[in-house]
Amino acid sequence: MPYPRHWLLLFVALCLVGCQTAATTGIAERPSYRAAVAGWSVKNRPLMVRVYGSGEDVVLLMAGIHGSEAAGVPILERLGRELMDRPEFLAGRTVVVLPAVNPDGVKAGKRRNANGVDLNRNFPADNFKTIKGNGSEPLSQPESRAVLEQIERYKPNRIVTFHQPLSCVDYDGEGALALAEAMGEHTDLPVKRLGGRPGSLGSYFGIDRGIPCITFELPKNARDMSDQDLWDRYGQATLAAVVYPDVLEVQ
Ligand SMILES: [Zn+2]
Repeated sequence: MPYPRHWLLLFVALCLVGCQTAATTGIAERPSYRAAVAGWSVKNRPLMVRVYGSGEDVVLLMAGIHGSEAAGVPILERLGRELMDRPEFLAGRTVVVLPAVNPDGVKAGKRRNANGVDLNRNFPADNFKTIKGNGSEPLSQPESRAVLEQIERYKPNRIVTFHQPLSCVDYDGEGALALAEAMGEHTDLPVKRLGGRPGSLGSYFGIDRGIPCITFELPKNARDMSDQDLWDRYGQATLAAVVYPDVLEVQ
């Protein structure tokens, strides 16, 4: 009885082809991200980086460089889920997320890292100042070196960092005003230039190197908001920076 066996084999073969096709299609349609350890904090906590998409346009977002200003951390965690759910945001784009670049400070609820250094004063900007709390020299801290390495590696077209509590969309670098205004369309926080602080990320990457940098200063009460409230209030402005210079449609 060869025929039934042949039909059975053919049936099994067709099923395998079908499953393979479905699995391949599923993988292609479902976005994924790559997670890695970008570096280690003074107290040996991992400084994570997550990379979504692979397009030429690169945006880098980070939070928690001041550990006591951690409201941006859950916003970037949520952003990651949005990018997975809405792959259209990743068309032609790479989104690099550093959700907590001062993990010791975030854990302790302190502005500075475990060496007592303000990481946002430790970059090799022209205006770096050797004073207590800025580090003995630029990039003296493992966390600031890890941030620099990621920016050198991915070469973002724009950078957004989350802070508190100055309630504005601050900007540094050529073209950064237009980016800030695009974000400002989606938040009630005003667009305002605060000016480059010594050795800050905005001073170095924005002013000295000309990469548009946004310092997204959330308000004081952001620390009391739920993760959902933070996303509801500031998620759209964050997405506006991701899709820039495309205009984010109001969701
Ligand atoms: Zn800050």
